[in-house]
Amino acid sequence: MGDHTMMPEWPQYDDDEAKALLEVLNSGNWGSTSGDVVATFEREFAAYQQAGFGICLSNGTLAIAAALRAAGVGIGDEVIVPPYTFIATASAALFVGAVPVFADVDLDTHLLDPVAVEAAITERTKAVIVVHLAGRPADLDAFTALGRRHGLTIIEDAAQAHGAAYKGRPVGAIGDLGTFSFQSSKNITAGEGGAVLTDNDELAGALYSLVNVGRVPGGGWYQHEAVGYNLRLTEFQAAILRVQLRRHPAVQEVRERNARLLTDLLRDVDGIHLAPEDPAITAHGRHLFLLRLPDHREAVLQSLATAGFTRASSGYVPLHRNAAVLRESKAITEKLGQPYPDADCPNADTVSAETIWLPQTYLLGTEDQTRAITTTITSAVNETN
Ligand SMILES: *Cc1c(COP(=O)(O)O)cnc(C)c1O
Repeated sequence: MGDHTMMPEWPQYDDDEAKALLEVLNSGNWGSTSGDVVATFEREFAAYQQAGFGICLSNGTLAIAAALRAAGVGIGDEVIVPPYTFIATASAALFVGAVPVFADVDLDTHLLDPVAVEAAITERTKAVIVVHLAGRPADLDAFTALGRRHGLTIIEDAAQAHGAAYKGRPVGAIGDLGTFSFQSSKNITAGEGGAVLTDNDELAGALYSLVNVGRVPGGGWYQHEAVGYNLRLTEFQAAILRVQLRRHPAVQEVRERNARLLTDLLRDVDGIHLAPEDPAITAHGRHLFLLRLPDHREAVLQSLATAGFTRASSGYVPLHRNAAVLRESKAITEKLGQPYPDADCPNADTVSAETIWLPQTYLLGTEDQTRAITTTITSAVNETN
């Protein structure tokens, strides 16, 4: 039996990555303070996402923290975030002394709901972090309008959305700032890494400084105009990222084709909820394939595991119930004598109880493998219907 569960490994690479790595090795310029590979990748990635400026840094978590700091978000400020996301979206706010405030997600798309965000705004709110979860762009028209109306910074957490586009424009610099991750699981990866994109040259300058111990471009080595971290990417990482970026469109085409097939085969199955089609989403990042199964999640997860699809998972536990995030948030608000808004996010509770994730590697198989996944899912649903 050809094993249909032998799904492709990740990352994918060949001699091009090896050659790029050796070039950096032999150049002796291993860091971006002497080499130019990071700067080259920054330009290439910003161009890929149609942003004016790109600043690379160590990871996607600190990308969000740096974006917040660049935007002037600090102690006691409130940052509205979704509860159904990776913990970094909320913890990044805590790292700059700000308070993450949770607004609920939409039941059908799993994405932050602009109406819930509007209701969560207080006079302390400074920013909103919109997550393009699974690679699906959030409602950026609504969020950019809301940002203008209330004078809030809109940050796109695009860690899962390389190559995704909203109304024909790649995500990342549609809001004020956009953050990306190149961690091992992500669709473009160097093992670790991150980037912030923006069209705003002042924010770009602030980010350069935050990443480079407060230095300014062209300034002296010991000239620190601001207090900054050292968050620099290595030239080795950038060398791999340049090749991974070139490879991305072709790999993405495979994911898109398989995601279409999954959607076509599962859309009309009773008991399975897929996010609705939306013409505003002109490219989906395809980092995860999400299915919501109100009555069949455990049965389907069990069947997938038994069939060998062991990397299907039940996904996030909602962050508005995470004790560590709540403890740190309340430590800040108590110290400052501010109220901490208790979040009521019933949709986040529902989606976290009912959703199954298929990882992006499950979108990289053959048509037969993709059909085997759908057969496993639909049989489990039909058996328990
Ligand atoms: C992966 C991820 C991050 C964090 O990126 P790291 O590079 O792992 O620090 C942030 N937000 C979301 C939505 C992610 O998926």
